[in-house]
Amino acid sequence: MKIDFHVHSNHSVDALDTVESLALAARKKGLDAIAVCDHDTMARKGGRPQLIGGVLVLFGTEVSTAQGHVQVFGTGKTYKKGIDAFKLVEKVKSEGGITIVAHPYSRRGHALHELAPQVGATALEKFNGRDFVHSWRARRLIAVGTGGSDAHVAAEVGNAWTEIETIKPSHKNLASAEADILSAVAKGQITARYRPSLASIASRYAQKLGRFIRTGKVGMYAPPNKG
Ligand SMILES: [Zn+2]
Ligand SMILES: [Zn+2]
Repeated sequence: MKIDFHVHSNHSVDALDTVESLALAARKKGLDAIAVCDHDTMARKGGRPQLIGGVLVLFGTEVSTAQGHVQVFGTGKTYKKGIDAFKLVEKVKSEGGITIVAHPYSRRGHALHELAPQVGATALEKFNGRDFVHSWRARRLIAVGTGGSDAHVAAEVGNAWTEIETIKPSHKNLASAEADILSAVAKGQITARYRPSLASIASRYAQKLGRFIRTGKVGMYAPPNKG
């Protein structure tokens, strides 16, 4: 199955689209599931998984810890902004959930960097559809990890995703489907994929291109390899 493990809905202050439109976008891209993780909040109280337009939707949260962003799934809870990342990882473990260090090698800030392997999270995010620099570095620094688009609009859904070969999509029991996915992450039975659409690269870098045309100065940008 294919799941985009990092998607923001309009419950995040900086994202635009509803959970429903994200799910429909995922279906169009051929994904089986998405994991919605809004900034320091959760799009659905209690976080129970839903089936929307044939797409399995998991609900977690992306916690702004003191050291950087960490995704949490499987506890149905939100956590205090600014919590220590090590404490968060321990807390979520004791509650039976999983933690994923988001874009650990990002240069945009909100990233754990060298702390990422030390914090003891369930997994690291290998490919982040919005963060070329992180994804480029992660090719060498992270052997196994998740892939997620970090979509803040529906058009970005599927720019990166996670493949779980051991799981075939099934909609019979959503709670057990979620449990299977989270346990595959914990066992490292996942492959991160990265294929940002040209349109999304264009929109994110249109500004930089404009600056280049005006000033002749090139911003920092390492283009990712395909695949
Ligand atoms: Zn983040
Ligand atoms: Zn995010």
